[in-house]
Amino acid sequence: MLEPRLLSINQVTLMQQWSLKQAIEGLARHDVAAISVWREKLHELGVAEAARMIEGHGLAVSGLCFAGLITSLDRDEAAKARDDVRRAIDEAARLKARCLVFVAGGVDPRNKDIKATRGRALDGLASIVPHARQAGVKIALEPLHPMICATRSVLSTMKLANEWCDTLAAEDTVGIAVDTYAVWWDPELEPQIARAGKRICAFHISDWLPDTQDLRLDRGMMGDGVIDIPAIRRMVEAAGYTGHREVEIFSARNWWKRDSDEVVRTVKERYQTAV
Ligand code: ZN
Repeated sequence: MLEPRLLSINQVTLMQQWSLKQAIEGLARHDVAAISVWREKLHELGVAEAARMIEGHGLAVSGLCFAGLITSLDRDEAAKARDDVRRAIDEAARLKARCLVFVAGGVDPRNKDIKATRGRALDGLASIVPHARQAGVKIALEPLHPMICATRSVLSTMKLANEWCDTLAAEDTVGIAVDTYAVWWDPELEPQIARAGKRICAFHISDWLPDTQDLRLDRGMMGDGVIDIPAIRRMVEAAGYTGHREVEIFSARNWWKRDSDEVVRTVKERYQTAV
């Protein structure tokens, strides 16, 4: 049996059903020990009130999602994006989040040089690290599936995430979020997870549906798709990760339309049978 206290539910899993206030109350009612907070919802409630409620309900915060998108070619735009990451770092500190999930950003059509794009992301990140260190917040680099490289993240593999961590040389402040949906296809996954070791500071789970209709918003419930989630969990745990298993399901056509209590009950069940 997997430890119930290590189950976290990312509130995006109930994005259409619950506000943050409802998510905090709902997860506590279902005895779910941890939540991952979505920033838009956080801003609706207010950071101070969210922190107060989360603490009052005894929930752990496995992560704050997300900040980043710092690859713009335009200097002012990029500077604004970096400022937003610094704000997110302060929010994560207030919520005592285990990490702030960082999504690099996609390719700027004004310059198709992907190597230069990755360079801008890495330089921008390096300039943010001191702020995170001072706030005591861990930045979790999240490699995303290469099919969304154009729009969301030029950081696509665990290998690249490890290389960025090597370059940044900020092991106290920068880690890696392993998301099964993003990295399951990678033939180098096992050695790169082993190489990441203690860098792994978040583990996100959902499944890849064989008939997926949308690359971002059609994630499957664990057990409904083709990812060997238990195998990946064993890899991250063999690498030394002992933190939350965070369920993160964007599902416009299915789970977002279901009754919230049914979704949480299903997550808890599948956590024991398919994770
Ligand atoms: Zn994720």
